[in-house]
Amino acid sequence: MININENFLDLQDSYLFSTIAKKVKAFQEANPDKKVIKLGIGDVTLPLAKACVNAMKKAADEMLDSNTFKGYGPEQGYDFLKDKIIEFDYKKRGIDVEPDEIFVSDGAKCDTGNIGDIFSKDNKVAITDPVYPVYIDTNTMAGRAGKYNESTGMYDNIIYMPCNAENNFEPELPSEVPDIIYLCFPNNPTGTVLNKTQLKKLVDYAKENKAIILYDSAYEAFITEEDVPHSIYEIEGAKEVAIEFKSFSKTAGFTGVRCGYVVIPKALKGYSKDGQEVSINKLWNRRTCTKFNGVSYITQKGAEAVYSEEGQAQIKQNIDYYKENAKIIKENLEEAGYKVFGGVNAPYIWLKLPDGVKSWNFFDRLLNEIQVVGTPGVGFGPSGEGYFRLTAFGNRENTIEAVNRIKNWK
Ligand code: PLP
Repeated sequence: MININENFLDLQDSYLFSTIAKKVKAFQEANPDKKVIKLGIGDVTLPLAKACVNAMKKAADEMLDSNTFKGYGPEQGYDFLKDKIIEFDYKKRGIDVEPDEIFVSDGAKCDTGNIGDIFSKDNKVAITDPVYPVYIDTNTMAGRAGKYNESTGMYDNIIYMPCNAENNFEPELPSEVPDIIYLCFPNNPTGTVLNKTQLKKLVDYAKENKAIILYDSAYEAFITEEDVPHSIYEIEGAKEVAIEFKSFSKTAGFTGVRCGYVVIPKALKGYSKDGQEVSINKLWNRRTCTKFNGVSYITQKGAEAVYSEEGQAQIKQNIDYYKENAKIIKENLEEAGYKVFGGVNAPYIWLKLPDGVKSWNFFDRLLNEIQVVGTPGVGFGPSGEGYFRLTAFGNRENTIEAVNRIKNWK
């Protein structure tokens, strides 16, 4: 008889995006003449940079020639890409990272989901709330989350660090000490960031408690403000406590191409039950070599082109386009009297709803009355109740029309 991993039975069905899709479909069927504008999407919409596409075409041609054909590559990624990552993403910011501290991957979702393989099931996990759901679900699968409590909307073995307008979206240091702390900045869904002083507090806390920080920096390319760190390793001591996850998805439109990377400093140590220090880098390398055969050569060539002069200019153009959308949404909603967070260093705008208004009620009214679709904040966790997420990934014309509809909404 096949016994299943019972932890999967503790997963909550993700109703959020399927419920949104169902509601939009039902509305559209009942009102075929109405134009619905979607500001709920978390995917990029602009096409890839030409430099990346050309590099991938050239790499595909190399596969035709026995002299340049590539079979299995290094599981951890090719040096040509790692060298560019080191030079542009780290050295330029005064951070030393060595090639064997970088693991090129097929994206941050897989990496943040898979990293739990190398940690004990008994570790206590802390997440910020609201949160990117992958962190919770993958810990549920591993048996770290415990049981889901319907009335609180929380798992009983996870430490929730609320992030809301009251605490200025800065996670408070939990009273119960966690072993693993997930952080995501710039944040999905709130679009908020931590400055260096705020992040330093969390790094120091992790160090004091021999905890590890899993730092998801998938939206780093959207940072505009000076004091916001682009890498957690800008913070002194972070190499001893943090793993950093980066992605080409939102930076360069690679959501469909698939490429990202993880940085695991060699200074980062975990502990065996008998208290021996163990290199986390070594464990992840072992796991990678066993379960992964590397990102395709063609994709890595496309990612390398992100760092070319042409590639940098082209991806900047796309990011600027989304940032301008974010600015338009933020400024217009503020003019309309809403309290708005995020949208400056991130493609997400986090709208505080008037007191007492629930996220799903707002969603229904917005759809039915002015045909604008966003994402109810409570779908990202209990602290998201009373908030609403809009994204800057739509096209300009629709973004402007949507905010005008909200502004003129009675
Ligand atoms: N991390 C966060 C916080 C995200 O919001 C997303 C995608 O929406 C990802 C990771 C996924 O990144 P990737 O496309 O590299 O898997």
